[in-house]
Amino acid sequence: MYKKTPLSNSSTQKLLKFIGLAVASLAAVIGIFIGATQMFGNSNIETLAQLGVGDLIAANQKVLAKVPLEYANPAPFRAKTIRDVVLPEGKKVIALTFDDGPWPQTTENILATLKKENVKATFFVIGQPLKSFPEISKKTVAAGHEMANHTEHHWYKAMHGIVAQREIEDTNKMLLEGLNVKTTYFRPPGGVLTNGLVDYAHQRNDTVLMWSADSGDSNPRRPSTESIIKTVVSQATPGGIVLMHDGGGNHENTAKAVPEIIRQLRAQGYTFATITELLEMGTLSPEGVTSAKKAAPAKKTVKPIPAAPAAKANKLPATGT
Ligand SMILES: [Zn+2]
Repeated sequence: MYKKTPLSNSSTQKLLKFIGLAVASLAAVIGIFIGATQMFGNSNIETLAQLGVGDLIAANQKVLAKVPLEYANPAPFRAKTIRDVVLPEGKKVIALTFDDGPWPQTTENILATLKKENVKATFFVIGQPLKSFPEISKKTVAAGHEMANHTEHHWYKAMHGIVAQREIEDTNKMLLEGLNVKTTYFRPPGGVLTNGLVDYAHQRNDTVLMWSADSGDSNPRRPSTESIIKTVVSQATPGGIVLMHDGGGNHENTAKAVPEIIRQLRAQGYTFATITELLEMGTLSPEGVTSAKKAAPAKKTVKPIPAAPAAKANKLPATGT
């Protein structure tokens, strides 16, 4: 047994009325909310009302910005190894390429020269320094130069297919995720054509880029600026590809040589192109890889290089081509 609450009839009725009113009000609010949500397709009503045309354009640009920039090789050059291209009669175009970067100071100095001279070049980057200095490569892409793959570790040794695949794909992944670019160009470290890397690059339809003019700047004795200028200019040919280095050690002599190389080649009537531009205006050279082997003395003796200034903990690649 329990005691009845001493509640009069009129008080009970008042309480019931109050509860009824509260329930009805709550139901009405929920009803309005459900109705409005359905009318606007379950979207956030406030957001929809606030969105203007400018916002939609900005949103569209954000989507577009996520589409990677692709340096696509023309069909005749897919799965081929080349050292130069054959240009139409009278055309004097040459491609400047820089290997083993990105590298503090040197790459930036070369970028400054290329900007001043309004020349576009191609940079064969290595994954390891790219991890340390992504900002330098972002500047390179933003300046309109092309990015190409030069493996992750710069190994010369013969490697299993899976290792070769990783050496190339890991750097491609870094280029895509870090710089939002895709490349179809590959250069094997040391110009070694037989260690598995070129086979894999061909499997993925990349063009393997050797060179027709070697600046000689990968020589551990580090040739002088004057020597680099003389070597490049003397080997320049229409449709040619010039090999220089912006990373893998101190290449300030190369950075200092670039303005004079551009000046002297211009005086001879040359203009400059990225690899894609050069390939698009040329045809496959009948000499192909045979000449590339001749032009690519792969030095097996590799001296360890000093760490780059401000380098992070990553091990940096050995010096060389
Ligand atoms: Zn190299």
